[in-house]
Amino acid sequence: MKCSKCHRDAILFQRYSGLHLCEQHFNRDFEAKAKRAIREHRWIRPGDTVAVALSGGKDSSAVLFFLHRLLGERRDVRLMAITVDEGISGYRDPNQAREIAENMGVPWVTATFVDEYRITLDEIVKRRGTRLSCSYCGVLRRALMNRIAREHGVTKFAYGFNLDDEAQSVLMNALRGDADRLTRPMREVEGMVPRIKPFMYIPEREVALYAFLHVEGFDLAGCPYAGDALRGDVRGILDDYTYRHPATKYSLVNLGEALREPERVTGEGLRVCERCGERWVAACDVPTEQSRSTEGAGPEVEIPEGSRVPRGKICRVCQVLDEVRKKA
Ligand SMILES: [Zn+2]
Ligand SMILES: [Zn+2]
Repeated sequence: MKCSKCHRDAILFQRYSGLHLCEQHFNRDFEAKAKRAIREHRWIRPGDTVAVALSGGKDSSAVLFFLHRLLGERRDVRLMAITVDEGISGYRDPNQAREIAENMGVPWVTATFVDEYRITLDEIVKRRGTRLSCSYCGVLRRALMNRIAREHGVTKFAYGFNLDDEAQSVLMNALRGDADRLTRPMREVEGMVPRIKPFMYIPEREVALYAFLHVEGFDLAGCPYAGDALRGDVRGILDDYTYRHPATKYSLVNLGEALREPERVTGEGLRVCERCGERWVAACDVPTEQSRSTEGAGPEVEIPEGSRVPRGKICRVCQVLDEVRKKA
């Protein structure tokens, strides 16, 4: 099959556009979409230090390559990569991420759960099981990323989230009836580094293709503990439906954007943790019952990812650490 725009052989067919694209026209189309996302959200400004959360997988490796290509010549924006090692044996050697960043000449820093928290994710799972491991890991990883960001003057975190991830999240929140997460702005508290997602309008398979074309040595394995049953179901439903209605994922992502409230950065709800001294947010004091995850609410304290339930006067990270350090 030939490219719809030139005489070369096509490497991709886009169902949603009806176009066959060669390598050159695919790259052009891909990068135009990522640039548009950045421009529309005014995500990168002069003086920014952008840090890619580099796991070493296809999405984050691709976003690092893209931003390096985009920003490489600019003197007014710095780019770096941060890799957090959660301590999962046999999964993603941080050295792979280091090599990916070094090959592009991008400054790279790393930090580990074991150094920061004296516990690995393997140990957390051993003690608490896998049901909440993604929530715990998310809270701890974000706090660690924020600390590194402060040390390096990072002003934006770049994530490799793609169209599929974003569409799944919108549909999941709808299916859970989670209006709070559907409307939550990208950033709501001062001191929190905003997240940018240049690939949010690009389908996962195209991000994978872009990674294959440009990055060597990225990892294809998924996290062994990521067993989110709802996300798996939603992915299946959405892929199936999108086959017949190719614009569906875009519609969902646009809906998510339309529902999101404008960014309102305030110091409201900001508290200082009595144990670790970190600032943290307790923006809304919803009762704990409502914050429970819908599946199998057990007697143990649940701290769903992103929940804003203050329990006492210690921060969410300290709450999680209390929870995971308990013997099983
Ligand atoms: Zn072409
Ligand atoms: Zn604390």
